[in-house]
Amino acid sequence: MSALVQDSFDLEKQLISSPSPEQADQLTEPGVLAAPGSGHAAKGYSGIADHSTPAHAFLEHTTSIMFPILFVPNVYFSFDRLYELELLWLGALAIPLALVLGDFVGGLVHWAADTYFSEDTPVVGPALIKPFREHHLYPRDITTHTFVSIVGNVCILAIPILSLCLYLLWITQHGLLAFAILWTSLMTAATVATNVFHKWAHQEKPSALVRWLQRMRLVLEPRHHQVHHTEPFKMHYCITNGWLNPLLNKIGFFRKLEAGLRSLGIETTNTRNSCDTVRT
Ligand SMILES: [Zn+2]
Ligand SMILES: [Zn+2]
Repeated sequence: MSALVQDSFDLEKQLISSPSPEQADQLTEPGVLAAPGSGHAAKGYSGIADHSTPAHAFLEHTTSIMFPILFVPNVYFSFDRLYELELLWLGALAIPLALVLGDFVGGLVHWAADTYFSEDTPVVGPALIKPFREHHLYPRDITTHTFVSIVGNVCILAIPILSLCLYLLWITQHGLLAFAILWTSLMTAATVATNVFHKWAHQEKPSALVRWLQRMRLVLEPRHHQVHHTEPFKMHYCITNGWLNPLLNKIGFFRKLEAGLRSLGIETTNTRNSCDTVRT
């Protein structure tokens, strides 16, 4: 196990149990970090309103409306198909698998956005890279964003997938395909919900129900997520429920992926360092 991974376990353990005086200086409450050397807690808000271009906002709104319209029939008809084939147990299996896969897919996208490309990269730069990188500087900003701006980006990606799933359900009767479509549909719901769970992890005063869900680790737990916002800023990329973070840390998954891509000539563009902390 690398020193980095060991450090992550130690850090999370300490954050969850009893932060040291040094960490207490750095970590005031979930989502709020003090700038190193500043000696005081930063608020984590930029004070700048979130803006999408008119075209992007239109896409976010239309796909957010279309998501339940496509999601519900996918789940209904795939469950119905499994029921007909007396494979309903596969339906029950699809739920935890979808939560795990959603956590993984969200983590993979988050890692890619944190590690590669730049805010100037065409299409993905302003839509994906910029929001993730600005979030590191102003983690509380996410709590001020509207529901559609939180879920819209993922809905844009989910709509073609759900459309294809519905088409496949329409033309085939295969039980395993129904299982795969149910799993995929539930996974898209988990990834759409990811930024809602991420927002909750940064809220100053989440509701009692949200706090219970976080305590149960059914959604992203704030102190678990705080490891991602703490130096060396290179772990805990999974932000749906964070279930996969310990495993991915342990096997050095993202570092190995970076090494593999480096061997293909693809270098990281991440310049995140100790200066890249919350701004006041
Ligand atoms: Zn990040
Ligand atoms: Zn965060």
